[in-house]
Amino acid sequence: MKLLENKVALVTGASRGIGEAIAVKFAEHGASIAFTYLSSDEKAKALEDRLTALGVKAKGYKSDAGDYKAAEQLANDVSKDFGTIDICVNNAGISRDNLLMRLTEQQWDEVMQANLKSIYNLTKQVIRPMMKARSGSIINMSSIVGVKGNGGQSAYAASKAGIIGFTKSIAQEIGSRNIRCNAIAPGFIETDMTHYLQDGGAEKWFEKIPLGRFGKTDDVANAALFLASDMSTYVTGQVLNVCGGMAT
Ligand code: NAP
Repeated sequence: MKLLENKVALVTGASRGIGEAIAVKFAEHGASIAFTYLSSDEKAKALEDRLTALGVKAKGYKSDAGDYKAAEQLANDVSKDFGTIDICVNNAGISRDNLLMRLTEQQWDEVMQANLKSIYNLTKQVIRPMMKARSGSIINMSSIVGVKGNGGQSAYAASKAGIIGFTKSIAQEIGSRNIRCNAIAPGFIETDMTHYLQDGGAEKWFEKIPLGRFGKTDDVANAALFLASDMSTYVTGQVLNVCGGMAT
């Protein structure tokens, strides 16, 4: 059964990793896909072709998630190209890990801009078409690090914790319009972002994960599918931990 037929989904940061898996999963379930990336032109073109081959409309937009004007332009372009926006996945993000003693102001600002301001930038835009349709699902990519904290990741953790506060507030603000807003908090997922963990000493991490493995991008994509679809019509303001039990 396809869960997202006749829906238009906008997924940020989909040229690689978790965003790419979400775009593919949603397309397999019949959604038209608008997606963004920052610099991976070739990967974005390849994804556009892959999604189109699945029989859905798909288009990649080069758009910096941290730039307010770019988000405004993006939402206008997607609404024009696709007619509406039913689902928005604010997934784009970066990490700049460092102990606080060494964490520079620039690193702090880069993380906040890409991870937290980005969520404000695009959510503010997409609620317009959603209010008109009196329906919508917004999914924000937090992290288990935003729930628990992690030494050496204070900026990243603060940005991801901020996303949770934003998500719960927006859920309260727009629930009466039948627009839902939830967050996903992945644990360690095998992508470019966690390459340094996979390269050596992975067993050390497995001891902290009840399911004894790193997560796959598909594990997160399945959670996003649930939150995007009508399987979750009475779920809003929640944080869904997809972390192999790490937060337990
Ligand atoms: P990734 O493999 O590093 O991919 C990041 C994606 O975001 C790429 O498509 C990248 O585009 C895009 N991006 C980065 N900055 C952007 C910007 N300013 N504007 C637009 N696009 C931008 O990361 P990932 O591991 O899939 O992570 C995806 C999300 O999940 C992030 O928010 C991350 O914090 C969160 N998360 C990841 C993990 C994990 O273990 N991997 C755990 C918890 C949470 P380009 O290819 O063009 O650079």
